[in-house]
Amino acid sequence: MSDSRNDHDNGPTMPGRRSVLKAGVVLAAAPLVGGVASRAEAAAKPPVANGPFTARAYGNTSATGPLGPLQIKRRAVGPNDVLLDVLYCGICHSDIHQARNEWSSLPTVYPCVPGHEIIGRVQAVGSAVTKFKVGDIGGVGCMVDSCGTCENCLADREQNCLMGATFTYNSSDRATGENTLGGYSEKMVVSERFVIRIPPGADLAATAPLLCAGITTFSPMQHWKLSSRQRVGVIGLGGLGHMAVKLAAARKAKVTVFTTSPGKVADARRLGAQEAVLWSDTAAMKRLANRFDLLISTVPQSYPMQPFMDLLALDGTLVNVGALNQLQGGLIGMSMAFGRKSLAGSVIGGIAETQEVIDYCAARGIKADVELIRPEQINQAYDRVVSKDARYRFVIDLTTGKKA
Ligand code: NAP
Ligand code: ZN
Repeated sequence: MSDSRNDHDNGPTMPGRRSVLKAGVVLAAAPLVGGVASRAEAAAKPPVANGPFTARAYGNTSATGPLGPLQIKRRAVGPNDVLLDVLYCGICHSDIHQARNEWSSLPTVYPCVPGHEIIGRVQAVGSAVTKFKVGDIGGVGCMVDSCGTCENCLADREQNCLMGATFTYNSSDRATGENTLGGYSEKMVVSERFVIRIPPGADLAATAPLLCAGITTFSPMQHWKLSSRQRVGVIGLGGLGHMAVKLAAARKAKVTVFTTSPGKVADARRLGAQEAVLWSDTAAMKRLANRFDLLISTVPQSYPMQPFMDLLALDGTLVNVGALNQLQGGLIGMSMAFGRKSLAGSVIGGIAETQEVIDYCAARGIKADVELIRPEQINQAYDRVVSKDARYRFVIDLTTGKKA
C-alpha cells in the first residue's frame, strides 16, 4: 500500500508534522469508563463553525498499548466537506495491524485512531457540498482523499492513486498535513467526494463492513469477471471472507471455503458456500486440484501458497488481499507456467465501485453478520479477531445519546 505522507506537501508555512501531531491530539486523562460517562459533556460542545474542533475518539499511543479514550482535533468543515456524526464503525483486521504497527511498509504514527468502516449522520455540510444535506446517512471506507488528477484517479481507481491515496487513518491529511485519524470516533470531517451515499432503510450497523470488507472482496470479483458458471475459493473465513462468500453466492458462482477452523464449516454453507474444506484435509485438496477460476485469499499472515495454486484451473488467478507483508516463497514456476496461473494482489476499490457495492448489496439485502460492541470492548474484540473468533465482524456502536 502506498502512502501520501509527505511533509513537503504541507507548503512552507505549515508547522512540522510532529508539532502538529502534538498539538492536534490530546490524550484524555479519564479512564475508559469515565470517558464514556462524560460523552454527554463532549457532545454538548458543538463543533466550531469556522475552525477545528475536538472530538472523542478511541485509539492507542504505542504498538503494545491498549486502545482507550482520546480527545482528538478534527479539521474545520471546508467548503467541500461533510461533518459526520459517527454512528457505527466496523473493526477490520487492518485496524489491528495498524494499531500494533505490524505492516513493515506502513509504519504507524501514534496516537493511532483506527476505523475505516464508518457510518454516520450528516451533521453539517460545507458551502459547496451538493451530494449531501444535513440528516442524510453517509459512509466512509478506507480512503478520505487522493490526488484526483493522475490517470488512476481519473479512471475511478483512487485506491491506486499514483501520488498515494490518503487513507482514513495513518496518512497525511492533504488539507492540514496532520496524521489522519479514523472512525473509532464521535465525529469525522471528510471531503464529500469520499463519502458514500447509504440508501434509505439500510441496516446501518450491518452495512458498515461493506465499506471495507465488502468492497475489498467485490472488486476482484468485478475485475476478474467472476460469473455464475465459475468456481471460486475463499481462503480464510473472517470479516472479508464471509463477505466474499455472500458476494460470490449472489453472482451464483460455486463457492468453496478453505478454513483452518472446524467450527466454521457449517457456517460456510449457511453463508452460501457449497463446500467448506479444512486446510488439513489433504484428500480434499487433492480432489479439488485444477478446478478453480478464482481464489481470494483473506488470510492476514503469509503462508505457503503453492497448495492453493495447485487448485487453480488453466488461466486461474489467486488474488491475495489479506497478507500485505513479505509473502512466503516456494511457488513452483513449472506449475504456474503449465497452468498459465497468476498470483495477483488487490486493494479495496475506488469510490465509484464502493458506491456500487453498497447499492448492489442494498438491492439484494446483502449485509454483514455483525456483533455490536461498546467502545470499551474494543481491546477484547481485537483479541477475538486475532484468535479467529469473530462471527464475522465486530461493529462499534457509537449511537449512545444520539438519534441512530
Ligand atoms: P479476520 O476477520 O481476522 O479474518 C481472517 C481469517 O483468516 C480468519 O478468520 C481465519 O479464517 C483466517 N486466518 C487468520 N489467521 C490465520 C493464520 N495464521 N493461518 C491461516 N488462516 C488464518 O480479518 P479480516 O478483517 O477479514 O482481514 C483479513 C486480512 O485482509 C487482514 O490482513 C487485513 O489487513 C487485510 N485487508 C486487506 C484489504 C485490502 O484492500 N487488500 C482490505 C481489508 C483488509 P479461518 O478461521 O476460516 O481459517
Ligand atoms: Zn479494512
